[in-house]
Amino acid sequence: MIAHYGYSDASGDWFLILDTDRCNGCGRCVEACPANIIEVGEDEIDPFREQPVAFIRHEERKKIRYHCAPCKPGNGQKTPPCAVVCDSGAISHSNSWKVCIQNNDP
Ligand code: SF4
Ligand code: SF4
Repeated sequence: MIAHYGYSDASGDWFLILDTDRCNGCGRCVEACPANIIEVGEDEIDPFREQPVAFIRHEERKKIRYHCAPCKPGNGQKTPPCAVVCDSGAISHSNSWKVCIQNNDP
């Protein structure tokens, strides 16, 4: 399943996309996230799944624009830490974010 967590602001739509089929619950993204908004636990989308999965903590979802803003390209990051450490390729970001990354490449 594909889970989208995001928001819109003056610079466009920003989504963190989590492919739960790829996630193995390793927890590396939890440790890497400077805002501490990722958790690994029971899959709320698929109650039959036994393996834990990463998700954005419920109480932080409406504040994701503030938490993730420092990871945006132009604020010192090319690829957000959560995506860098995910060897499974479970985490990606919206196209507008990728375009921004390309535009910031030297
Ligand atoms: S690093 Fe990737 S595979 Fe590991 S828990 Fe996070 S999303 Fe899942
Ligand atoms: S983009 Fe940054 S703040 Fe947002 S979940 Fe990923 S590492 Fe955490």
